[in-house]
Amino acid sequence: MGLIDHNLYIERLGAFIDPPRAVEKAIITHAHADHAKPGHKHVLATQQTIDIMKIRYGNNCAEVFQAIKFNEKLNINDLSLTFFPAGHILGSAQVLITDQSSRYLITGDYKTKEDSSCQTFQLVECDVLITEATFGLPVFQHPNPKKEIQKLLNHLKGEKSNTYIIGAYSLGKAQRVIRLLREAGYDENIYLHGSQSKICEYYETQGINLGELSSVAHRKGDEFNGKIVIAPPSALRDRWSRRFSNPVICAASGWMSIKQRAKQSLVEIPLVISDHADWNELTDTILETGSKTVWVTHGREEALVYWCKKNNIEGAPLNLQGREEDTE
Ligand SMILES: [Zn+2]
Ligand SMILES: [Zn+2]
Repeated sequence: MGLIDHNLYIERLGAFIDPPRAVEKAIITHAHADHAKPGHKHVLATQQTIDIMKIRYGNNCAEVFQAIKFNEKLNINDLSLTFFPAGHILGSAQVLITDQSSRYLITGDYKTKEDSSCQTFQLVECDVLITEATFGLPVFQHPNPKKEIQKLLNHLKGEKSNTYIIGAYSLGKAQRVIRLLREAGYDENIYLHGSQSKICEYYETQGINLGELSSVAHRKGDEFNGKIVIAPPSALRDRWSRRFSNPVICAASGWMSIKQRAKQSLVEIPLVISDHADWNELTDTILETGSKTVWVTHGREEALVYWCKKNNIEGAPLNLQGREEDTE
């Protein structure tokens, strides 16, 4: 029996990793809703993950919070735990669990590409790698996000009467898009949907400079002409978006590389910006960790399992419940 079972339960600690329902002891990789649920008795996570959980679910969303720093070894019984940056969103972690004989690494959601809105991914060697596979098909090759942002800025230069509304999830994606815009030299006010401001404010307290941001509320029509508005994808087609006279719908997501999807969701300017590893990042990371065994979860499991077998690595799909396709 290994250190962790196929439900990501660590018997020797009595703890689950990112459990889909409330448990006694949870180890949380990051604050996205499909990983961080409210109602656990004891939560072990990075301080930023804990802070964001409290912002989203309230201060009492768990009974006891225990914060762990990146690269700090925590010894419990005969096991040790270390969190390493996953490069996915602010505070997101990979979790390494070791005993004398083996090293298990759970990636959580991750990407290795540069992102100035969060900590940089750190490569960790291990024996058993439990990897996400959101974009686990060879067709997924994420383009350079700087080029994607430039597409939007080119539109902006051309047509001044439009309002460019970018659908981006409130935690992680919105802040990354804002940072990409700032790095590309865009220094104008960026307007936010009401639900985006709290997390943006929190990122600012953590030293992530997002520049000038304003709420869309109580403003009207013309003020948004030629401007950028960021909103959760769900707001793009509801009453909220009717306040803009010439809205152009953009969306920032790894899924925008599927043209059919962009079309179906009436996205006029798809921006392929992903906070998950693409196929090459997934397979490179597997090789670089030196792992002999790979468990695949959270997405397209079969292709990656097949790739492992071809590369003489033992691979298995986990088929975890409550881990359907990542909305990113
Ligand atoms: Zn995530
Ligand atoms: Zn996820």
